[in-house]
Amino acid sequence: MAFQGGCLCGRFRYAIERRSLKAMHCYCDMCRKAHGTAFSTHAIVRPHQLVWQTMDELVPYESSPGAFRQFCPSCGAHLVVHGQSGDGTYAVPAGTLDGDPTLEILGHMYVEERVSWFEILDDLPQHARWPAGFGPSSG
Ligand SMILES: [Zn+2]
Ligand SMILES: [Zn+2]
Repeated sequence: MAFQGGCLCGRFRYAIERRSLKAMHCYCDMCRKAHGTAFSTHAIVRPHQLVWQTMDELVPYESSPGAFRQFCPSCGAHLVVHGQSGDGTYAVPAGTLDGDPTLEILGHMYVEERVSWFEILDDLPQHARWPAGFGPSSG
């Protein structure tokens, strides 16, 4: 089964060809600015599992060296991050998924950059940065 998602305006639609989705909450400074929120939740996929249903081009922004965030130029929704892990993993901001699909949340990352006005209240693992080995096969 595939997961479906897209940007706010609907110009960009995608399918994720996976049976399940693993994700992590990220508290890094760049996610905070890019999303305007205390953290973002990244679903982790292999590049070939993310299938675009439009031929339009997303707008890339290199938010840190070699790491690209891609946005819809019409509505500004943040649809994918890649290059951040060094292993080809793509991160899809989970809030762009349609509906409320089941996600396996593996924990929290970049907690060293968490803002004081958001508190982590669960017992999931917390990582200072991107944890070694975190990818589509994690967990
Ligand atoms: Zn859009
Ligand atoms: Zn982040």
